[in-house]
Amino acid sequence: MTRFNAWNVLKNGLLGQSGWDRQWRDPEPKSAYDVVIVGGGLHGLATAYYLAKYHQVRRIAVVEKGWIGGGNAGRNTTIVRSNYFLPGNREFYEKSLTMWEQLSHELNYNVMFSQRSHVSLFHSPGARDAVARRYNIMRLTGNDDTELWDLETLKRNIPHLNTEDARFPILGAAVQKRAGTARHDAVAWGYARAADALGVDILQNCEVQSIERDENSIQTLTTSRGAITAKKVGFAVAGNTSLLWQQAGLGQLPIESHKLQAFVTEPLKPLIDQVVVYGVGGAHFYISQSDKGGLVYGGDLDWYKSYAQRGNLHIVQDVAECATAIFPCVGRARLLRHWSGIQDMSMDGSPFICKTPLSNLYLNAGWNYGGFKATCASGWYFADLIANDRPDPVIEGHNLQRFETGAVLDERGAGADCKLHG
Ligand SMILES: Cc1cc2nc3c(=O)[nH]c(=O)nc-3n(C[C@H](O)[C@H](O)[C@H](O)COP(=O)(O)OP(=O)(O)OC[C@H]3O[C@@H](n4cnc5c(N)ncnc54)[C@H](O)[C@@H]3O)c2cc1C
Repeated sequence: MTRFNAWNVLKNGLLGQSGWDRQWRDPEPKSAYDVVIVGGGLHGLATAYYLAKYHQVRRIAVVEKGWIGGGNAGRNTTIVRSNYFLPGNREFYEKSLTMWEQLSHELNYNVMFSQRSHVSLFHSPGARDAVARRYNIMRLTGNDDTELWDLETLKRNIPHLNTEDARFPILGAAVQKRAGTARHDAVAWGYARAADALGVDILQNCEVQSIERDENSIQTLTTSRGAITAKKVGFAVAGNTSLLWQQAGLGQLPIESHKLQAFVTEPLKPLIDQVVVYGVGGAHFYISQSDKGGLVYGGDLDWYKSYAQRGNLHIVQDVAECATAIFPCVGRARLLRHWSGIQDMSMDGSPFICKTPLSNLYLNAGWNYGGFKATCASGWYFADLIANDRPDPVIEGHNLQRFETGAVLDERGAGADCKLHG
């Protein structure tokens, strides 16, 4: 694999870009592997990379029914942050953010991680107290990049915000300065290229269609490109998890599949430097500006379960209303595209990285709105779990039993309705 560095960029600039290698191979599936990861999204690719790089597992395949990054990986609004406060979640997301800070170097691929600050607006003294508690806990546990901004600071930093007559008056904001955005395609491609260089077979257009098992373990995965056996199997299929779980004859999961949309406008000159989040009284909206200038918006779920990767118009209206409520100046920006992805919403808003009732099956799922930021730690801990057959203490609580024991990880205290955990 030709490395990306100044010399190679210069050389290829002079040689008509003729000296670059293919980014990853297109191998034929083998009949047997040590580990098969089902799902070529960010989590599957990251897991394969860390397994190969840090656990010296050699015969690994990532099996993807479409093209890599074609699921939520390439559909999200790319926000990366670590403002969680429950034990387990806090360490997990902070580990992820720390890994994001080195990811371009780790992969020798520019994932365009931009630490531009994550600004959560608040609109009442009660909301300010709640975020102050959360952000103080972050500071007390070693994360000193958090601040509370009063209205004057907010106006100075984000001059286009409607601080005059917004429907819900803006009082200030909680800010995480190391948070930001990254380029989602680049993350998928970077992990794929690095994993391939370590010998991982990335098998695209290879759908797992049925699963053969005995009492205790998975025997064979029947795919659209033939039968594959594996000593260990990891599911990392996000919104399709319940389908695969049922194929394995394992019944129901505490997960619902919901649609989440994203939107992008025509390119504009630089307008918003940060990620800005607005959530109050049923309104839910987040906005950032891409490097190409498009404003990237996101909002709430479509509020009904579905496996469709397209959204409905009521959310377009909802998001447009939120956008103009806090940034009236974007009212005339034209929306270029909107799309949706299938979210694997868990009942307490936290993920699963855990063993399963089958001895050689491992589960990575339940990412809700937050799986992009989790990519690095998710791959890291899932690889460790698969390689060593026990969870690292950080992810011990991210298991399926928590709904039996009551040790749920409900960050928002919203209760057992997955739709409330956005
Ligand atoms: C609109 C939107 C906005 C979002 N915004 C953010 C954000 O700002 N920040 C954040 O942290 N997170 C965000 N997320 C969430 C994040 O994108 C997901 O949680 C994360 O991408 C899920 O992990 P993944 O990339 O591995 O999933 P996916 O990319 O969905 O990967 C799963 C893969 O499994 C494949 N697959 C499914 N079934 C099979 C099968 N039977 N055989 C083989 N392959 C199969 C699918 O084709 C898919 O490619 C957002 C999501 C959406 C949809």
